[in-house]
Amino acid sequence: MSDASRAGRDGAFGGMRPFGDVLPLEEARRLIDEAARVVDGAEWVAVGEAAGRVLAADVPAPFDVPGFDRSAMDGYAVRASDVAEATDAAPVWLRLAGRARPGAAFAGTVAPGTCVDTATGAPIPDGADAMVMVERTSRDADRVKFTRPAVPGDHVSPRANDVRTGAVVLRGGDVLTPARVGVAASFGLRTLLVRRRPVVALISSGDELLDAGDAEGPPPAGHIYDANRAMLAALCRASGADVLPLPLVRDTLQAWRDAFDAAAGADLIVCSGGSSVGEQDYGADILAERGEVRFHGIAVKPGKPTAFARIDRDGGAQFVLAMPGNPTSCLSNAYVLLRPLVRRLAGLPALVPVTREATLTRALSSPVDRLQFYPVRLDGDRAVPVFKGSGDVTSLSDADGYVEVPIGVARVEAGTRVLVTLY
Ligand code: AMP
Ligand code: MG
Repeated sequence: MSDASRAGRDGAFGGMRPFGDVLPLEEARRLIDEAARVVDGAEWVAVGEAAGRVLAADVPAPFDVPGFDRSAMDGYAVRASDVAEATDAAPVWLRLAGRARPGAAFAGTVAPGTCVDTATGAPIPDGADAMVMVERTSRDADRVKFTRPAVPGDHVSPRANDVRTGAVVLRGGDVLTPARVGVAASFGLRTLLVRRRPVVALISSGDELLDAGDAEGPPPAGHIYDANRAMLAALCRASGADVLPLPLVRDTLQAWRDAFDAAAGADLIVCSGGSSVGEQDYGADILAERGEVRFHGIAVKPGKPTAFARIDRDGGAQFVLAMPGNPTSCLSNAYVLLRPLVRRLAGLPALVPVTREATLTRALSSPVDRLQFYPVRLDGDRAVPVFKGSGDVTSLSDADGYVEVPIGVARVEAGTRVLVTLY
């Protein structure tokens, strides 16, 4: 606890501990980026479960692909020299010696004067060195007529044409897209070594909070159901983390200590509620007690009372992001700060924001000293503001994205073309 905040706690501010300087968002982002590194550890997962995971190591090709000279066409495998002179005026007739299909090679050798009916994907029979497309031929019983010359290699995918044994086909650090899962499967791999997912412990704090099932239907007066753990769990999982939801934390320092003890094994602790300067807000206190606070208070709306800290644990660094309890404030900051943080810990690349231009349907007002994230719903080319209040849980569920109103701007008029960043 800083001297100023201690003074506040002792009564100088009537139990409140006001913020010192609030940090611009960019600075908060920089501090988070600077601190957070991809977590250590890797695990083997089934190829079928590996999509979206981050490869932990390069995968060299265990064999050539294709593993044999392969036909790239349906047609006839020939010795190119047999048909080198073929024209309409002087066609060449070859005797059909057999057939080759994918998975069923021709057993013999293509002798001079013969050809083999060969399908796409089938091995080129021994002795043959070119394919002639079926469309360029005609057949009479066991004789095939050729009217075009062929050269060696025509329509043949030579062995190792795609990948040679030992070449790196998947790179450590790459995210496993469907295409990359397909590559692993095509080599007959059953498992892949992927980075461990970061573990995020989730804490919801407040004397008023209930778990689903604690009451039947409407909560008793003054109480509410916890929205934030489920909401943040969804966001963290979608950002590549495993989550550890902890029991609800009451507004005492001891309850916070117990929760932080229970979260000892997590890479990141994400708390909601109690992050501000009220009498019962112990979030900032526990951060200062357990770790090194990197910031407390950022110049955004909603979500100003947000703090970030680093705790030294035996296993290395643990990070803490403490956000306000209002679901709207909490989720707004989760999008702009938590999601990038979790992706960094998971080794996932930064998301490229997806934006749309639209016309604002009604004026927005904004505090001049804070960057505001104003939730809007997109209705065709129109951006409809949907913010009700920080405490209203449907403010964000009705929104498709947000408009950023920069510091220094107090009002954005209806009819303004705005850039909407999609969630
Ligand atoms: P706090 O950040 O603790 O000052 O809480 C701000 C507001 O958010 C209060 O109205 C709380 O009741 C509400 N709140 C806090 N935590 C949660 C939660 N987990 N789910 C829903 N509302 C919450
Ligand atoms: Mg509270």
